[in-house]
Amino acid sequence: MMNFDFTPEQEMLRSTVRKFVDKEIMPYIKEWDERGYFDPNIFKRLAELNLMGVCIPEEYGGMGMDYNSLAIVCEELERGDTAFRTAVSVHTGLNSLTLLQWGTEEQKQKYLVPQAKGEKIGAFGLTEPNAGSDVASISTTAVRDGDYYILNGQKTWISLCDIADHFIVFAYTDKSKKHRGISAFIVERTMPGFSSKAIKGKLGIRAGNTGELFFDNVRVPKENLLGKEGEGFKIAMSALDNGRFTVAAGAVGLIMACLEASVKYCHERKTFGKEIGRHQLVQQMIARMEAGLQISRLLVYKVGFLKNQGRRTTREASLAKWIACDFANQAADDAVQIHGAYGYSNEYPVERYLRNSKAPVIYEGTREIHTIIQAEYVLGYRQDKPLRKMLPPWNPDSVKL
Ligand SMILES: Cc1cc2nc3c(=O)[nH]c(=O)nc-3n(C[C@H](O)[C@H](O)[C@H](O)COP(=O)(O)OP(=O)(O)OC[C@H]3O[C@@H](n4cnc5c(N)ncnc54)[C@H](O)[C@@H]3O)c2cc1C
Repeated sequence: MMNFDFTPEQEMLRSTVRKFVDKEIMPYIKEWDERGYFDPNIFKRLAELNLMGVCIPEEYGGMGMDYNSLAIVCEELERGDTAFRTAVSVHTGLNSLTLLQWGTEEQKQKYLVPQAKGEKIGAFGLTEPNAGSDVASISTTAVRDGDYYILNGQKTWISLCDIADHFIVFAYTDKSKKHRGISAFIVERTMPGFSSKAIKGKLGIRAGNTGELFFDNVRVPKENLLGKEGEGFKIAMSALDNGRFTVAAGAVGLIMACLEASVKYCHERKTFGKEIGRHQLVQQMIARMEAGLQISRLLVYKVGFLKNQGRRTTREASLAKWIACDFANQAADDAVQIHGAYGYSNEYPVERYLRNSKAPVIYEGTREIHTIIQAEYVLGYRQDKPLRKMLPPWNPDSVKL
């Protein structure tokens, strides 16, 4: 049953994304990062390459490839820049896969199909000014009014805030039930009372769009309730099982980028009469990156393997996300160190890698939250029960070639 080989289709996919990144991201990313510019054409190009719904079944507008194919897309995109992998994590990982798992047939046809085709962009609104790790502290409310829910509140740090067409938004329908009173809604940007505003001055992911969402008496049709009333917390956590998988895969790509830049520099730069790659303490940093790359990859592909079988991956996705993001953050720090003073300027890409590597240690569960989750599993304080709706297993007959 164990097979560490990629299929010819996965190899082809990796080569397609790599060529795309080398041609359409690498030459421009330094300037986009400096200007804080998110290029919306990237989504159009990704859609043309069928990458906006790579693991969504063909019947819902996707490519029908397996879940590890999504990991390959994320790895290769983050080799270019974290901003584009973050966009795919949010669009596919947090939004589209959540619709696939929890949506009604009508919701899938209306929202998932255009998202998988890349005609519409999806995002995910959970975090609020006073609620990040502590999700139950959100204060956005949804009050039933006939055939509608009226949403009021604010979200912050939402990726693709100004770009996305559809948002999965979490709000209290019954505050007295604590986290069991949270519900999930599909909100369209065009619904009256909805507005968004980008956050300026970010440390990294500057070529990405992140910011606030505002809901001022937004009337959301009752058909846009995702799952049942009160299921929002479970839906949010299951969405994160998928999002964390993509974040971990992206971290692998960032380590690849750190290694590429560092190996090149190790051969170029000489001190004390030899290439710096010949110094053992520099080799230690290279070796640490390689170990991080290989360990993280194994953790990521194990999650994909379990997802392909339709199994729950809360524990494994949390571990992969925690470990891969920590290794990526360390690899970026080492890459700057290997470049010496040159690593401290944007003449080389490694300073961008270091700035970009920090947000993934914070979002989709901070390093501290994942540490706690892992300890709780080991100590027997946490067990997973089957969810009312599970992410469907991969169907090998559904691949669209
Ligand atoms: C670039 C970027 C993009 C993002 N995109 C999205 C998005 O698309 N959608 C979305 O909903 N959110 C998004 N976020 C928000 C992100 O998910 C939150 O920032 C994250 O969940 C942490 O919440 P917080 O920032 O409020 O930190 P807090 O929860 O306030 O934590 C502050 C510190 O306290 C620690 N801490 C908190 N609780 C505990 C505890 N119990 N034990 C030990 N330590 C603890 C944390 O680890 C952290 O170090 C994004 C964030 C960033 C930076």
